[in-house]
Amino acid sequence: MAQRPPTSEIETRPDLWGPFSVAGRNALVTGAAKGIGRGIADRLAEGGANVLIADIDLAAAQHVAEHLAQDEGRPVAMRVDVSSEADCEAAVQRCIEEFGSLDLLVNNAGIFPSSPVLEMSPEFFDRVLGINLRGLVFMSKAAGLQMVRQGRGGKIVNIASIDSVHPSLPGLAAYDASKGGVLSFTKNFALEMAPHHVTVNAIAPGGIATEGTSQPVTGLTKEQTDAMMAAFTQRIPMKRMGVPDDIAKVAVFLASSAADYMTGVLIVVDGGMLLS
Ligand code: NAP
Repeated sequence: MAQRPPTSEIETRPDLWGPFSVAGRNALVTGAAKGIGRGIADRLAEGGANVLIADIDLAAAQHVAEHLAQDEGRPVAMRVDVSSEADCEAAVQRCIEEFGSLDLLVNNAGIFPSSPVLEMSPEFFDRVLGINLRGLVFMSKAAGLQMVRQGRGGKIVNIASIDSVHPSLPGLAAYDASKGGVLSFTKNFALEMAPHHVTVNAIAPGGIATEGTSQPVTGLTKEQTDAMMAAFTQRIPMKRMGVPDDIAKVAVFLASSAADYMTGVLIVVDGGMLLS
């Protein structure tokens, strides 16, 4: 999966990042073994952050940790199912054991299976909401408690979606409900955490080429999925799908001191899709 387009020299020189520096930050990124999460972990590590790669797929997380080990920050892989509150608490604890503190949480883990509402089972709905919204809420709670205990602020970055504000495709009603919830939660938790100097912001990616989006859509063949994705790409004003690094660079911004006075906002990163 393409992670990055060609970059300018300044992007690969963390010593030149200035107020966008994340050097020395201790970070927890969920769903970091693949796709957008991996792109975020990659940029954070390159910038000198220590990153806990928390993913349900431990083998893939370990593979990423080995790859990131060549860069500046210290990566650690851990199997975490964000739909389990115990796993969320254990992930925060592991950060403390490995790095000494937790400065940054990126809530990225998410699933996007398709089902029309008229055919949807309660189990399907609960699974999507359990990972995308409930998981994000209880990971935020575990991290938020730790940041308050530490008493020196922190940053939480939630990966929402353009579907938080506008539907993309039929069949994604459960997903859209979860991502709408992520946006509302982000704003209210930002209000609650502001007195503790913990900022809570969200990014709304548009179509990003990842392992997840390359899978056939439920009920469609690979060819039908490819045709649907081609039509989707045509609707993007910039006429290309995004890559994980398009989101990773904005996550780095929100994680850095450059965004210290921002909280409760949604940054749309979609090549203009919401305008179309
Ligand atoms: P992806 O390629 O499928 O990667 C997601 C990673 O999260 C995978 O490693 C996955 O493991 C893991 N994961 C799934 N369930 C988990 C759980 N319960 N606990 C911990 N990890 C779990 O997905 P992506 O496309 O990068 O998407 C990442 C996030 O961006 C999601 O929240 C998604 O909704 C959001 N987003 C994506 C797009 C897009 O176009 N790609 C657009 C808007 C928003 P498995 O592969 O083993 O399931």
